[in-house]
Amino acid sequence: MFIKTLKLKGFKSFADETEIRFSEGINCIVGPNGCGKSNIVDALKWVVGDTSPKGMRASNLKDVIFKGSEGRRASKSAEVSVTLLKDDLFSLSEPEVEITRRVKSNGDSEFLINGRKVRLKDIQGFFTSIGLGNREYAFFEQGQVDRVLRMRPQERRALIDEAAEITLFKEKKAETLKE
Ligand code: ATP
Ligand code: MG
Repeated sequence: MFIKTLKLKGFKSFADETEIRFSEGINCIVGPNGCGKSNIVDALKWVVGDTSPKGMRASNLKDVIFKGSEGRRASKSAEVSVTLLKDDLFSLSEPEVEITRRVKSNGDSEFLINGRKVRLKDIQGFFTSIGLGNREYAFFEQGQVDRVLRMRPQERRALIDEAAEITLFKEKKAETLKE
């Protein structure tokens, strides 16, 4: 599975609709300070279902909406779509999957998988199932290498579980045992 495109509209500094195309392998985003590189990473984290304002470097989740600039009015909503392509390593049920997250200025938000409305839980479940859950190692930011080196063995084990795609089954088992 790899990320084919990321589309942003009204998200943080991306007022205009912007499409970023990725290719297989390693992709680098370069640019001067403040041009929006980290905002692109925030958009990716947001669309996979990050619910913490801190993760978005915002004080409130509505703060992801473009807040206006000189000569440019604020956006009424923010929208991010990511298109994933299937490859030999990760099986997706369809050759191409598009996930969309939208938030309006009144705080209403919605999620879509291939244009169909779903719950946040469905999105998070989908990403966890393909090993791109918004936690642990999927997003490795500044300072996190140090964090892993300082981890206790149990914490490091959780990383390995997730990489081996065992976490989802553990969660399902815990849920079943609760019922
Ligand atoms: P650096 O190289 O310093 O890490 P960067 O390319 O990662 O920079 P970002 O942090 O992605 O830069 O972008 C910061 C810019 O995004 C700032 O100019 C900030 O004002 C702008 N920004 C953040 N949130 C919003 C928003 N809601 N509306 C408009 N602009 C925003
Ligand atoms: Mg940055």
